[in-house]
Amino acid sequence: MAKTVMTVTGPIDVNDLGFTLMHEHVFLDLMRDAWIFDNILNDMELADVELHRFAASGGSTLVDLTSGGLRGHDKHLLYDEDLNHVAHAEAMRCASETSGINIVLGAGWYHESYYPKRLWKMATNDLAEEIINEIEVGIDGTSVRAGHIGEIGARYNWLSAIEERVLRASARAQVKTGLGLTTHSTAGIGGLEQLDVLEQEGVDLRRVTVAHSGLFPRTEYHEAIARRGASVSFDRMGDLPAMSEFHRNRLLSHLRTLVDRGHIEQVVLSHDVCYKKDLFANGGSGYDWLASYGRDILERDLGLVDEQWNTIMVENPKRLLAE
Ligand SMILES: [Zn+2]
Repeated sequence: MAKTVMTVTGPIDVNDLGFTLMHEHVFLDLMRDAWIFDNILNDMELADVELHRFAASGGSTLVDLTSGGLRGHDKHLLYDEDLNHVAHAEAMRCASETSGINIVLGAGWYHESYYPKRLWKMATNDLAEEIINEIEVGIDGTSVRAGHIGEIGARYNWLSAIEERVLRASARAQVKTGLGLTTHSTAGIGGLEQLDVLEQEGVDLRRVTVAHSGLFPRTEYHEAIARRGASVSFDRMGDLPAMSEFHRNRLLSHLRTLVDRGHIEQVVLSHDVCYKKDLFANGGSGYDWLASYGRDILERDLGLVDEQWNTIMVENPKRLLAE
């Protein structure tokens, strides 16, 4: 039987995923980080234009890791033309239908600052049941089902007690459902601590991607993740055009090292569009930079051949989404 992946419009054959971005956000509320205009993505008309750019560049699938707490927690995130509230998951289904892009939505919760208060009173297994419900029934009371777990994060570069419990719950949901899981960790080597917890819960780390890990500038960190079987995510590739020569060269050399040392099957590339400024219409790289420009740059600067590009952008997502 062919393996399938659950998208916001229903299951699709894994072979239909095609060119896939593993870490993006279409509608997102990051206002708890800072109450600034850049931190909210809630323009449905613009999202459609940006997704059409991705489709026109050869893009096919996008994994949206807008987990719980990021979907409009303090106030409604999205409104239709009549100013009625639209549930995040329903808006995602609509965005997929109008753009033709397959969208896989993530389950679980982001990090401590974004958790609803009730999470502190819940048992770990009850948290896991809620995640399983998002996968098997639907997200936020809709019939739109999650096809991935994450992003599951830590606010700082360590796990707080409640974040560890949510990560354990996510791990139990992973073991039960078999879905891939993406963690979120920034500004340090916290991804290794997250892998420890997942391993303790019996997760096969080959199903795990450590988001933002590629952006921590130590190749020893990337290799430590890869040696354990997990994937290393270079997920802000849209920043490359604006990077200084130093940062650009260093990032590319880290990618080259992973490939040269035999870890190409654990490399994930994406844009992690999460701010208004990341959208093409606002001067950013949008969702299509990798498909439109990244390929040429990586083939030239890293010496990647077509088959290797296909491994990173098509085969790795297939394995991570539907092993
Ligand atoms: Zn993240």
